[in-house]
Amino acid sequence: MENKFDLVILGSGSTAFAAAIRAAELGKTAAMTEMRMLGGTCVNRGCLPSKNLIEAARIVWEAAHPRYKGLSPAKMKFDFAELIAQKQEVVEVYRGKKYQSILRDDENIQVFDGKAELVDAHTVRVGDATLIGDQILVATGTRPVIPTIDGLDDVPYLTSDLLTTGEVQELKELPKSMVIVGAGYIALELGQMFHRFGTRVTILERSQVILPSYEPEVSDALTFILRKEGVKIVTEAQVTRVARKSENEIEVTTNVSGKTQTFTAQKLVIATGREPNTDGIGLDKVGVTLDERGYVKVNDELQTNVPNIWAAGDVIGNHIDSQPATPVGAHDGVIVARNALDGARQKVDHRVIPRVIFTDPQVAVVGQTDEEVVGSGVRCWCGTIPLEYVPRAGATHQIDGIAKIVIDRDTEEVKGVSLVMPNAGEVIHEAAMGMRFHARLEDFIDMIHVYPTMAEALKIAAISYFKDPAKLSCCAE
Ligand SMILES: Cc1cc2nc3c(=O)[nH]c(=O)nc-3n(C[C@H](O)[C@H](O)[C@H](O)COP(=O)(O)OP(=O)(O)OC[C@H]3O[C@@H](n4cnc5c(N)ncnc54)[C@H](O)[C@@H]3O)c2cc1C
Repeated sequence: MENKFDLVILGSGSTAFAAAIRAAELGKTAAMTEMRMLGGTCVNRGCLPSKNLIEAARIVWEAAHPRYKGLSPAKMKFDFAELIAQKQEVVEVYRGKKYQSILRDDENIQVFDGKAELVDAHTVRVGDATLIGDQILVATGTRPVIPTIDGLDDVPYLTSDLLTTGEVQELKELPKSMVIVGAGYIALELGQMFHRFGTRVTILERSQVILPSYEPEVSDALTFILRKEGVKIVTEAQVTRVARKSENEIEVTTNVSGKTQTFTAQKLVIATGREPNTDGIGLDKVGVTLDERGYVKVNDELQTNVPNIWAAGDVIGNHIDSQPATPVGAHDGVIVARNALDGARQKVDHRVIPRVIFTDPQVAVVGQTDEEVVGSGVRCWCGTIPLEYVPRAGATHQIDGIAKIVIDRDTEEVKGVSLVMPNAGEVIHEAAMGMRFHARLEDFIDMIHVYPTMAEALKIAAISYFKDPAKLSCCAE
């Protein structure tokens, strides 16, 4: 069977869907391909199921740990298997609405099941089908990295795929204990979630701190908060060996700052990062250039070195300042469709990409860190305030956290913001929108903020450039 399309896409995740929908809007035909589950990582095993269960864990935890004197702790009964089942329902409903129904309603878009492989620059083979594409988009995403650890092949382990539905990787029972190797955002989100459901969680991180690429204040604040609520975080811990200790237990041997330490748990989770799905898909055959880690190299129009082959989403890693996150892939998928099919020649703008870690409190960042601004040769000033300066935080007993603002000292333009606070994921949009329009410190100070809100943290951090933020009246004036 041979099928001709204007755009053939390797993958069916959020990047692929956005590109296919825009192609159809342009009156063109598009084919997506999928070797696992329609919709890709975000809807099936990433954003959606994790955020669903993280919120359930927060409700359980808050009930047991009320922040207010006068509220008694309540041990909420929960059925983990039922929580997993409702997570599956949410995923299925969402997949139906946002993915399957689009295919039903649009005859210009088709999906082919199976592993897609490029045969030449215009031909993709998927199972028995051969797809001919005038233009090709590589949107194959990433998968968990499995590091080389002595004994790992001989023990069962989980990865960030543990939230998937209907696949063998799914975790359906609540473990008593869990060792997580790695302390990136997925490890921290899932680690806190399982801890809140009652699992004894240990997070092992080989760096000196968790989240080393974030502001040090973020890393310190989140480490303090997670440890305070009982998550065990061990830094400078290099895992050297894993072995089955008993039928139900895995022993993890580590070198912690030069000393051997062992940790035992019912479940082992490997969360040491992700790698691109670019092997075995014919990219080498057609001469598409990859970087040394296997990510696809693209120019700022998302075109590879082969003119009719484009790439977007997680598979391009951090090239052209991209970030592996769903909205970035979806945004860029649209640009690929416009550039590939409509000659738009639109350049991506990745200067302002807000990002969130859905721990509680959340971490949200946008723009550059202090170190990055200095590294770019800009004279900078940065102000960090503890959350206790924010009236809302004090009023609701949520004072653990920080807000940091980084500016170009010469122009006073805001270059970066980092927040650790409840609802940081919402608040960060004010900073992001401001930065999109090159807002200066004064813009954050002059804007009247709703009192009392967490967003006032931005205004107070900005004010700290001029005066002591501990001595402000109500409403940060
Ligand atoms: C636990 C977890 C939580 C996350 N939480 C968030 C969050 O809260 N917010 C956020 O923005 N991002 C989050 N992410 C990241 C987000 O899921 C990704 O950034 C996003 O899914 C990337 O979309 P994509 O389309 O580029 O790739 P994917 O969604 O990974 O889609 C690629 C698809 O291509 C398929 N594929 C690969 N190779 C082939 C082939 N040769 N042939 C056919 N099909 C192929 C794969 O099976 C996959 O379905 C999370 C990720 C994880 C793992």
